[in-house]
Amino acid sequence: MLLSHVLQQGQFTNPETPGYVGFANLPNQVHRKSVKKGFEFTLMVVGESGLGKSTLINSLFLTDLYPERVIPGAAEKIERTVQIEASTVEIEERGVKLRLTVATAHDLFCPKWKCTIIAYIDDQFERYLHDESGLNRRHIVDNRVHCCFYFISPLGHGLKPLDVQFMKAIHNKVNVVPVIAKADTLTLRERERLKRRILDEIDEHGIKIYHLPDAESDEDEDFKEQTRILKASIPFAVVGSNQQIEAKGKKVRGRLYPWGVVEVENPEHNDFLKLRTMLITHMQDLQEVTQDLHYENFRSERLKRGGRLSSHGYGPEPEEMDKDMILQEKEAELRRMQEMITKMQAQMQIKPDGAGDGQHM
Ligand code: GDP
Repeated sequence: MLLSHVLQQGQFTNPETPGYVGFANLPNQVHRKSVKKGFEFTLMVVGESGLGKSTLINSLFLTDLYPERVIPGAAEKIERTVQIEASTVEIEERGVKLRLTVATAHDLFCPKWKCTIIAYIDDQFERYLHDESGLNRRHIVDNRVHCCFYFISPLGHGLKPLDVQFMKAIHNKVNVVPVIAKADTLTLRERERLKRRILDEIDEHGIKIYHLPDAESDEDEDFKEQTRILKASIPFAVVGSNQQIEAKGKKVRGRLYPWGVVEVENPEHNDFLKLRTMLITHMQDLQEVTQDLHYENFRSERLKRGGRLSSHGYGPEPEEMDKDMILQEKEAELRRMQEMITKMQAQMQIKPDGAGDGQHM
């Protein structure tokens, strides 16, 4: 079902943005440009199965993108391969058209996940490159992946090795936005602690996530404040739901618990609205970073290789990437150990009188 149909049916009400997604509220000069051209945007959603990706996407875009989805049973999971489900909806608001593609990768425990996901991203670059060098350049369809929501489990104590591995494998190809799933399972304190931990680990492992651009100095104060709040909320801790529930006399999208309702669109309950605002107000920037940084990287890599084809298109073979990654991780680990030794040596030298005695033995 087209999103516009859902919107017309008025299934969704929200006091801040009643009845629509809100991308037509882009800053004015962006809005004018997009009215002419229309937007093409691809969002990739990645994370372990069961973390709530489909539910969140349905909540974000108010439509069931995957009504036909079949959840594999245990037997099917044994012979599993990563599938990427790609679904496109067309949305029109105030004359602005958005062709939104959502590509979801569910099963990160499958050994083939890395090849599949990287191949998917590269294939879209490859197609664009091909079209760009062709004759019909005016009508290129842009299916490049502009943003990737990476779902992190709320149950761990931070990032799992797989999370680190995944984000590092794609951070030079796509804008990665980390998202903590099912935030309603965390107390406020646990949420803050997990956020801090994840940011530390992202830093420690040299993972490059998407950085919201600073608001320009001539931007209005509200926009500056919004940017500051959005930046401070990363990684966004979100809640999704496909249900409308009666709460305090109004119908809201939420999750009903014996002790009350968690409202998806209540900023005091979770970061859903912030994530949506981030996506909508920075759609243009996400596209520009994709074009100027990720796509340019891909193009120049490919030129360097003289157009040598890898099995999935252009760019390095996944096995080569694996070796590179292992080497880089080993080097980083060695560097960390060296730093630790240096720190310990320095501490031993500055211990107060007598305290260091005998420590060298
Ligand atoms: P996916 O496999 O990542 O696409 O996950 P689904 O969207 O299919 O959700 C898996 C299960 O988690 C379903 O039972 C959802 O109702 C539930 N779920 C989805 N979002 C949330 C959330 O924000 N909080 C909680 N507690 N459960 C959720």
